[in-house]
Amino acid sequence: MTQFEDARTDIDRIDSELIRSLAARMEVVRAIAAMKRDNPDLPLCNEARERDVFEKWSAEGKQLGLSPYFVGRILREVLNYSRRDQESVLVRVDDDSKETRKVRVGYQGAPGAYSDLAIEKLFISRPMAVRERAGFHSFAAALDALEAKDLDYVLLPIENTIAGSINDVYRLLAERHVHIVDEEVWHVEHVLAGLPGAELEDISTVRSHVVALQQCQAFIEELVGCVAESHYDTAGSAVSVAEAGQAGVAAICSEEAARRAGLEVIKRDIADRPNNMTRFVLVALAPERVDPRVRSRTSLLFTADHRRGALAECLQYFAGQGLNLCKLESRPLPETPWEYLFYIDLEGNVEDPRLADSLKKLAEHTNHLRVLGCYPDRSTEGGSANDWMDTDEAQETSSAPPKAPALKSTAGPLVTILREDSSEREPSVVRIGTANIGARDEFTLILGPCAVENREQVMEAAAMAREAGAQVLRGGAFKPRSSPYSFQGLGWEGLDLLVEAGRTYGLPVVTEVLRPEDVQRMAGSADMLQVGARNMQNFALLTELGKVRRPVLLKRGMSATIGELLAAAEYILAGGNQQVILCERGIRTFETATRATLDLSAVPVLKARTHLPVIVDPSHAAGRRDLVIPLAASAVAVGADGLIIELHPNPEVALCDKDQALCRSDLEDLRAQLEPLTRAMGRRLGQPG
Ligand code: PEP
Ligand code: MN
Repeated sequence: MTQFEDARTDIDRIDSELIRSLAARMEVVRAIAAMKRDNPDLPLCNEARERDVFEKWSAEGKQLGLSPYFVGRILREVLNYSRRDQESVLVRVDDDSKETRKVRVGYQGAPGAYSDLAIEKLFISRPMAVRERAGFHSFAAALDALEAKDLDYVLLPIENTIAGSINDVYRLLAERHVHIVDEEVWHVEHVLAGLPGAELEDISTVRSHVVALQQCQAFIEELVGCVAESHYDTAGSAVSVAEAGQAGVAAICSEEAARRAGLEVIKRDIADRPNNMTRFVLVALAPERVDPRVRSRTSLLFTADHRRGALAECLQYFAGQGLNLCKLESRPLPETPWEYLFYIDLEGNVEDPRLADSLKKLAEHTNHLRVLGCYPDRSTEGGSANDWMDTDEAQETSSAPPKAPALKSTAGPLVTILREDSSEREPSVVRIGTANIGARDEFTLILGPCAVENREQVMEAAAMAREAGAQVLRGGAFKPRSSPYSFQGLGWEGLDLLVEAGRTYGLPVVTEVLRPEDVQRMAGSADMLQVGARNMQNFALLTELGKVRRPVLLKRGMSATIGELLAAAEYILAGGNQQVILCERGIRTFETATRATLDLSAVPVLKARTHLPVIVDPSHAAGRRDLVIPLAASAVAVGADGLIIELHPNPEVALCDKDQALCRSDLEDLRAQLEPLTRAMGRRLGQPG
């Protein structure tokens, strides 16, 4: 054996000792993690202790002639690994469960793509093992598979330190009903890879994802006569180069992707700038709780009112609570020009009372607010040994993990925006046209036919509504009828007629939506969407309504308790949409003298338990014209914010609910009754137009 080979054998032996020592160290780390799991008072991470360890390493290294800088870098990685491993032990029930919980994770790209590599890295810290990693052509396709339950998670790149935010992903986070449950940062190290034996001088075509090509632009320009060719994925470009078998074509991808495709690295370090890092978010269909001792981030999505200073006000709530904002991103709302969706990343856990409190305040000033997720903060994880190199006082204040806040007994990790005890917050006001529904000094009338029957009928009904002082026009285009043989409504044509009548008389319109798949389209033209009594617990419908930026009029189910009505409203609020109006419309009792029994006590009960506006529908409760006005009057007295009442130009021929429709002369009586009552309650009634 030569001396050289001897030396190599020595190296191999030492390496194996290193690995074994590392494994032994990890075992102790895990034992400590188990103690931390069983004792919530122990902090997860102890900066002072870590600095001690560093000093020991560095001093000992120095004595042995090693660079403190490199020793520090190695230690940093060891500690990162330990911390992540401890986090997964924290939530692990027993040591085997990581192996027994096997999940499927999707990403955009081909095997070896940066997303794929990041999944491998991220799941070291998660209390589960990856059974399958599936690459998709697009982000949307991966999310489709998640929604179809073919996957448990999807990893999406959300921003890059050079290319910036990935707009497509931001858009999808708003559109899809997914929750961010974790994040990962990947240090992107592009290589130029070609067929075995290929030389740099041979390369005439470089193929890769357009973002990777941009990031290596200066390098490509130096390759004289070389053309750049875009491909859907970096790893996919490596596979295509291998398949093409042409020595003149090279790919830009990760070293791992090159290896998997059977390519050789022609050149490393080809990016124009160092510090090319991509942040990924892991999304799932359900949120996941994060132990408050784990340094975490919370991401929110909201719309601010369209007025001066509204965004600044929203941000102040966080500043006021001493919460650190790490990212603010705005995306345009295509359906409403010059309005924006804001995305915010905050340092902190949703269970932190300060964060919960600011969310509550924010909800009062936004039309739309959704917690996208709360997840471990991995992007500020120590990346450089320099953190400890100059150990001066500056370090004393840095990045200590927050002390575990007092745990609130919440049902889940999401903040329940709808509060059982709403006394501490202002009532919410839903603005629609000239009406401020829910404002203490206003009383809103919503009038119109049960169903839109034809142009003439709806035009005349709109004129009557306007004359009676209505601020919103109602009218059913899709009617949920108990019998399949009854008039089902004119459908989309009816909606067009209703909108036309509303525009003619200057009234916004409300109409009932029956199916989740119609929500988006209906939100395109109706000003407010109604959920009928028969659909109050149609959870798919409620979930869809949580996503739209239109107010929702939620009617109480015929056999629903007040608690169930609130839980139904919570679906919409939790989905992001804060503009919900509750409506008491009578419930089923043993009494048959009226169509339903108007539960007037629901109004003050709801007013005490929520901040949402409450209106009353006396028409469907009474089922009889003669009772509508007395019940309407009582609704004012009991504290309702408004009424929704059916009228018809010619009730005898009405196609739907003819017995309860008010006619022209009834409307005069209605106003005469309501005027003194609303005044007595300190409320203003909309003026006849
Ligand atoms: C309606 O308002 O048109 C309606 C159908 O009412 P409800 O859902 O309360 O029966
Ligand atoms: Mn009706």
